[in-house]
Amino acid sequence: KGFPRYDEITNYGESLGHGSFTRNFKGFKTDIRDGEKHVTPVFLKELDVVHKNCWESFFEAASLMSQISHKHLILVYGVSVLGVKNIMVQEFVECGALDLYLKRRRSVSVSWKLDVAKQLASALNFLEEKNIVHGNICAKNLLLAREDDPSQGSSPFIKLSDPGISVPMLVILDRIPWVAPELLDAPEKLTLDCDKWSFGATVWEIFNNGNTPLLGWDLDKKRQFYESSQQLPPSQWTELADLVNQCMDYQADFRPSCRSIIRQLNSLITSGNHVHHSLTVNEY
Ligand code: ATP
Ligand code: MG
Repeated sequence: KGFPRYDEITNYGESLGHGSFTRNFKGFKTDIRDGEKHVTPVFLKELDVVHKNCWESFFEAASLMSQISHKHLILVYGVSVLGVKNIMVQEFVECGALDLYLKRRRSVSVSWKLDVAKQLASALNFLEEKNIVHGNICAKNLLLAREDDPSQGSSPFIKLSDPGISVPMLVILDRIPWVAPELLDAPEKLTLDCDKWSFGATVWEIFNNGNTPLLGWDLDKKRQFYESSQQLPPSQWTELADLVNQCMDYQADFRPSCRSIIRQLNSLITSGNHVHHSLTVNEY
């Protein structure tokens, strides 16, 4: 698959703010297929000049995502290079990041949240089958392609974004509680089990209305959190709390398989009525 050339990208200009290592823009990708011109809106991530030494990792993230295709994974077209600029070109996802969405709309139903968790689990399962580690699963890296449309009977639709660049130690501490604890001692030992931990933390975020866990904690306090094997405050929904706990097990090989995660999420749905009632009371 060829990487898009810079001259195929137009409207490179409308700024959409910053990522951790990128400046983001909206643009359009033009290509000719079967003699016809196709214009597609795209999301452009330009690697910050201050992080330009991370270009290898940036390319790795792009190539990881562009080699696989799944409905709940963001479509990455490639990296466009213009002189010193490295620009990741990806599909434009309409409603932006999930954490921000949940914070904006405080009263999303439990079944909506469950749908989102199940979609993420299916993406995780796909990656597990392919033996591909993502490395940066969190609610801010889940993008919402469709809110939902009750009149059409349709549910939300999410896509897991690219992992971004792999980070040095200092930033790893900042990624507590999403980063698997075993990575603190050996950041290079990123495995499928690490994604399970991050999945647990992400499910926690989803069911806590996008609230950031351990918000405002300094890096020392965060490190101590892991060193004393602590857990995030459990959900009152015990079956859900149990699933999060299984994923966020300090012993990596005790974490459940994706198959087990999906089975547990499905069983949550069947007992959904009771839960729906008891949770919404707390949410308002
Ligand atoms: P990281 O570099 O660690 O991934 P980040 O997730 O904060 O950091 P980005 O992935 O660049 O940074 O995302 C920044 C914001 O841009 C998101 O919060 C989201 O609202 C928006 N965004 C990201 N990707 C897309 C996309 N493909 N389509 C539409 N909006 C997007
Ligand atoms: Mg991101």
